[in-house]
Amino acid sequence: MNANDSRPAPSSPPTFAIDVVAVVGVGLIGGSFAAALKKAGVAKTVLGAGRQQPTLARAQRLGLIDKAVSIEEAAATADLILLSVPVGATGKVLARMAPHLRARTLITDAGSTKADVATAAREALKERISQFIPGHPIAGAEASGPEAARADLYKGCTVVLTPLAENTESDRTLLRHVWEACGARVVNMQPAAHDTALASVSHVPHFLAAVFMAQVAAAVDSDQRMSLAGSGFRDFTRIAAGSPEMWRDIFVANREAVLAELAEFRRVLEQAEQSLRDDDSQGLYDFLERAALARRFWGSRSRT
Ligand code: NAP
Repeated sequence: MNANDSRPAPSSPPTFAIDVVAVVGVGLIGGSFAAALKKAGVAKTVLGAGRQQPTLARAQRLGLIDKAVSIEEAAATADLILLSVPVGATGKVLARMAPHLRARTLITDAGSTKADVATAAREALKERISQFIPGHPIAGAEASGPEAARADLYKGCTVVLTPLAENTESDRTLLRHVWEACGARVVNMQPAAHDTALASVSHVPHFLAAVFMAQVAAAVDSDQRMSLAGSGFRDFTRIAAGSPEMWRDIFVANREAVLAELAEFRRVLEQAEQSLRDDDSQGLYDFLERAALARRFWGSRSRT
């Protein structure tokens, strides 16, 4: 299976409904999943579980969930459960669920890293591991919490699933249909390939945006610099506003791939810097042209 193994999302309305869907972690990602499934008419009842009661109360007030329950109750009553908590919390949450889990309940997650999540799930669920299909919707924003949730967040986005050998074909098909009902297209990948690719196009960009923002903010004249900053600064630093807890967990979970990508980044940075040091304007031009063409080509294909 690979990233090319994809089919377009169907345009017809879903012909199935799930009695009880539970979302553990009703923030941007979990709240948007709940809202999308309600809007699509796929979930009859949506339960919300999480860490702090006030977050669940806000999610209920916003109409994202019908009822707040404990993690244990979610495990005991839901037919489908989405874990949308920081990846470092996956093992702990699944371990709380394991003793209460019904035999037919399907669990998935939305975590931004996949190899660590699969390992944590195996450890927590043991012989119940066939009930867990790891996943990652490639959609999001720097905003977090239930207020940031949107029913259309997954419309047109890609969801990567990294199924385990133990998962049944019918559970894989059901999960594909669930994400398609949210408007997403589903691709299957190996966890290591997912984590390497995402280190390059998501995790390292976040790391660099955070380093750059911190460096500008620490300057003695930072107020003046930022008062003069325009759209380039805004675009380059937007993602640095994301949740520190979520991103810390991602970097810790995908440490090796992120470090490898940062080493490669340093090599290319060094080359570009050398052109400038050497006053090699042709070398600098060639480097900038290669980057501009690559960005324009990607932009034309992804309409970004
Ligand atoms: P979020 O808006 O901050 O929501 C996370 C939720 O998880 C919060 O409601 C929080 O509850 C809950 N939570 C945190 N620790 C918990 C624990 N130990 N037990 C139970 N609940 C806990 O974050 P998000 O953006 O939705 O991200 C959720 C997941 O999706 C992460 O794994 C992230 O890697 C992944 N993801 C994020 C994006 C993105 O762009 N943001 C994109 C794709 C995937 P409290 O509010 O009560 O503390």
